[in-house]
Amino acid sequence: MVDDNDLLPLSALQHIIFCERQFALIHLEQAWAENAYTMEGRVLHEKAHSGAREKRPGKSKEFGMPIRSLELGLTGMTDAVEYGEDGGIRIIEYKRGRPKRHRADEVQLCAQAMCIEEMKGVAIAEAQLFYGKAKRRKTVSLDDDLRSITRAAAARAISLLLEGRTPKADFDEAKCPHCSLIGLCMPGKLGSGKSVDRYIERMTREKAE
Ligand code: SF4
Repeated sequence: MVDDNDLLPLSALQHIIFCERQFALIHLEQAWAENAYTMEGRVLHEKAHSGAREKRPGKSKEFGMPIRSLELGLTGMTDAVEYGEDGGIRIIEYKRGRPKRHRADEVQLCAQAMCIEEMKGVAIAEAQLFYGKAKRRKTVSLDDDLRSITRAAAARAISLLLEGRTPKADFDEAKCPHCSLIGLCMPGKLGSGKSVDRYIERMTREKAE
C-alpha cells in the first residue's frame, strides 16, 4: 500500500509491459518523445478526458473520471464510464489502433476497474476496449488471471523505480521500430541528422497508406 503522493500514472503499466527500458526512461529519467502513434493516442485521449457527461434513457456516461488505487499504487483517469439503470458500471477505454499481441491494453483497463472497485466498493466483472482503426469494441473479462498480471505489472513498476536502474538497450525488431523513444534509446538505429523527424514522417506516411 503506497501513499497518495507516490502514485504512478496508469500509463506506466503500458510502458512496463511494452519494455522495461522504456518504462525506466520515462518514469525514472523523465525522457519523453512523441511519434505518430503517441501523437494520435494523445489527441484521442484529450477528447475522452473532457470531463463531459451524457445522459440517455436508461444509462448515463461520464468522461474523464479521476481514479486511483492505493493497493496498486496507481492514479489516472478513465476515458468513459457508463452507468446502467441496474447500477452496473462499464468502463470503456479508447485505443487508436488495433488489438495488440501483448496484454498491455487489457492490463491498463483492468487497473482502471480495480481503482474504481477500491474507490467505490463495487465489483466489476468486465470492461471494454474500443479500437479506432478496427472500429470495434472488445469486451474484456476481468478474471483472476488478468488481475494477477495487473498486480504483478504494478509491483514490478514500483520495484524498478525503487531500484533506480535503467535496463540496457536491447534491439527488438517487433517493438523498437514502433517505440517513441528509439531516437533517445538507440539513436544509431535511426541514422544521423534529423533522423527522429524522418522516422516520425515515415511512420505517419505508412499509417496513412
Ligand atoms: S527502443 Fe526498444 S529497447 Fe529502447 S526503449 Fe524503445 S522498445 Fe525499449
